[in-house]
Amino acid sequence: MADHDVIIVGARAAGASTALLLARAGWRVLVVDRARRGSDTLSTHALMRPGVLQLQRWGLLDAIIAAGTPGQDRVVFHYGDDRVDLELSSRLYAPRRTVLDPVLVAAAEDSGAVVRFGVDVRGLLRDPDGRVTGIRVRDRHGRTIELRSRMTVGADGRRSLVARDVDAEVTRRGANAAAAMYGYWTGVETAGYEWGFRPGRSAGLIPTGDARVCVYAGMPPQRFAHEVRYDPEGGLHRVLAETTPSVAERVAAGQRVEPVRGFPGMPGWLRRPWGPGWALVGDAGYFKDPITAHGITDALRDAELLARALDRLLRGDVEPADALADYERRRDALSIPLLEITDAVASFAWTLPEVQRLHLKMSDAMQQEVDALTELDPLVARPVAA
Ligand SMILES: Cc1cc2nc3c(=O)[nH]c(=O)nc-3n(C[C@H](O)[C@H](O)[C@H](O)COP(=O)(O)OP(=O)(O)OC[C@H]3O[C@@H](n4cnc5c(N)ncnc54)[C@H](O)[C@@H]3O)c2cc1C
Repeated sequence: MADHDVIIVGARAAGASTALLLARAGWRVLVVDRARRGSDTLSTHALMRPGVLQLQRWGLLDAIIAAGTPGQDRVVFHYGDDRVDLELSSRLYAPRRTVLDPVLVAAAEDSGAVVRFGVDVRGLLRDPDGRVTGIRVRDRHGRTIELRSRMTVGADGRRSLVARDVDAEVTRRGANAAAAMYGYWTGVETAGYEWGFRPGRSAGLIPTGDARVCVYAGMPPQRFAHEVRYDPEGGLHRVLAETTPSVAERVAAGQRVEPVRGFPGMPGWLRRPWGPGWALVGDAGYFKDPITAHGITDALRDAELLARALDRLLRGDVEPADALADYERRRDALSIPLLEITDAVASFAWTLPEVQRLHLKMSDAMQQEVDALTELDPLVARPVAA
């Protein structure tokens, strides 16, 4: 018999959320991650409407606010020298990953999931028919251990071992990538999330906890490779000043308090997210360029879609293939527009009116996500056998 109903590889946005929902539904869930508990990761962290909605639905938004994450009532777009201020009907939040991921993990543990850090997954176990039956791990003492489960989920990010091991088919690929630099400053005034665009570049501000502001700049990968990667802070300041001089002046008045980090860019993809005994969620199955700041939001969305599919499958209500194909269909219907818009923004081959139109399309796509999530009833806890 399997030791666990579900084993999840990866304990961040996608994995911890999926674990939380499945544990709340009464399933025996083990989550493993090779990282340290509470560690940071290479990512800025602006949440969009559907992401904040998920945290609210799961009862976790208060913990994010209590950890000192400021709410934003406004988004400002800088298109060249023009400024468009949007008042928001509901607040947005940008919790650091050192806040968001631990809140999700704690909620998963409180719901009964077992979460183990410092555990490196080396491969998948299979039965004689090729069905995935669990994982082979190396623990922090160097021991190799086999762990069995009814379903194994890869929530292990854009370099997913699970996706590689099952050879998950790529069903759609983006053509473009944007490189990004970011760092944290104090003493920078902000009006809310601020997104700046000018042909060939983007830059902006994301206010977060500890009175810090994440300052970022996006550019074509060639510029990053030839100029910016060797001078991260200078490069960030240059791209920021070229994109939105008014924002650059405010940043110059503040103090940088963490090193500038860089991401060289990577075109997006959509992978088939399931097969016999396995499923993928988050970046492992669907990655898009960070330029639209939507990966965490979609990870929280897809955790909900996958947890529902796995719940039905584990209950035996439907054939496994039907439950998982339904997950893929719902995920793809919501993701393909976002992937295409993001790919177009990451091309930097737009004029300012064109990028404005892409942002309006993005807003429509996010409304579709909100509508789809709002329609879902809460997962019902499975009666535990006496
Ligand atoms: C520069 C940059 C900026 C971004 N900015 C934003 C933003 O502003 N807003 C937004 O919504 N999104 C943003 N994103 C995207 C966001 O970071 C991702 O979409 C999100 O982290 C996906 O979450 P995940 O849980 O799927 O994967 P991850 O966060 O990558 O987590 C995967 C986990 O799996 C673990 N793991 C991997 N392999 C193994 C293994 N073999 N064994 C054990 N554990 C393993 C890793 O240790 C890791 O903890 C940004 C990304 C980048 C690169």
